[in-house]
Amino acid sequence: MQCPECQSTHINKNGHKKGKQNHICVRCKRQFINDYQSQKGYSAEVKRECLKMYVNGMGFRAIERVKNVHHTTIINWVKQAGEILPNCYEERNDSFGKRIR
Ligand SMILES: [Zn+2]
Repeated sequence: MQCPECQSTHINKNGHKKGKQNHICVRCKRQFINDYQSQKGYSAEVKRECLKMYVNGMGFRAIERVKNVHHTTIINWVKQAGEILPNCYEERNDSFGKRIR
């Protein structure tokens, strides 16, 4: 973890704000909340489960409701996965194109 202000990694915990861990930079005293969700910090397991749901025919909004992952994040994962493994996603390319455009 780094300070968003000075990029120092010398960070201390500084209580909680709105239920999230608050941090303070020892060097510049900048306070910040490390929000994993906004930084796309999902685990590889969550990502794999979302992609599995997608290839099994679930829509992005449905996966969003079940896994609590924003649908644009899932769309990005599908795009990445599609580039790495084009054959696995080929049969759904048409519907995928309609949904995101
Ligand atoms: Zn700092």
